[in-house]
Amino acid sequence: MRRWFPIVTAALAALVAAAPAAAADPSGAARTGATAGKAAKAKPVNCAKVKCIALTFDDGPGRYTGKLLETLRENKTTVTFFLMGEHVDKYRGTARAIARAGHEIGNHTYAHPHLTSLYDGLIRDELVRAQDSIERATGKRPTLMRPPYGDTDDRVSGIAAELGLAQILWNRTSRDWELRDSKAITKRVLKDAARNRIVLMHDIWPETVAAMPGILRSLKKKGFHVVTVGTLLRGRELAPGEMYPLTGWR
Ligand SMILES: [Zn+2]
Repeated sequence: MRRWFPIVTAALAALVAAAPAAAADPSGAARTGATAGKAAKAKPVNCAKVKCIALTFDDGPGRYTGKLLETLRENKTTVTFFLMGEHVDKYRGTARAIARAGHEIGNHTYAHPHLTSLYDGLIRDELVRAQDSIERATGKRPTLMRPPYGDTDDRVSGIAAELGLAQILWNRTSRDWELRDSKAITKRVLKDAARNRIVLMHDIWPETVAAMPGILRSLKKKGFHVVTVGTLLRGRELAPGEMYPLTGWR
């Protein structure tokens, strides 16, 4: 997989540098058709100047993701999705719609194992299989990954580096998988909202998706711009294997 190295490193740099522009014009994605894939047409956001927060959605795509895409489109907002390969294979059209709408897509492994408990070869398989599924569905290989459960170590980091994947963790979690209540999820996200934070959420839960219109409305009222991780990083280039953020996600 070494041959991917310079290519993905360059791609990551380009992604990070171009994130605001890409959000404004998701490379003609809107022209390719389907209503569900219509671009969010978010305005370019400079997180050095305005208050940004990145909402990130793990474990999809799933049966509620389409509804979330609608809400995001209505709010002209782009976010980051960390997709499971297994779910991409099952909901390939939805994965394609996420990409067409200009959202950022990262790798969340194929089947969501605790990576640190696996042999090297299996860690690599989990990541590569998800890369393959995502590329088949969207035409693009991610340059970001998020280890399930935030479970990573030097071995996982080394393999992520080999595959050209930077590791994106989070600063705060919505704990939506425990709360399973839209009001409680909303309350928690708003309470924890702070400039430049990355928030962990899951679009596989209907309560999370149902909470999103209210969350976006309230964040806007508080002066936040909801952005992708790439936009939040403002051109900062993460090295393959590098973790961001380094603290706060345990
Ligand atoms: Zn997960």
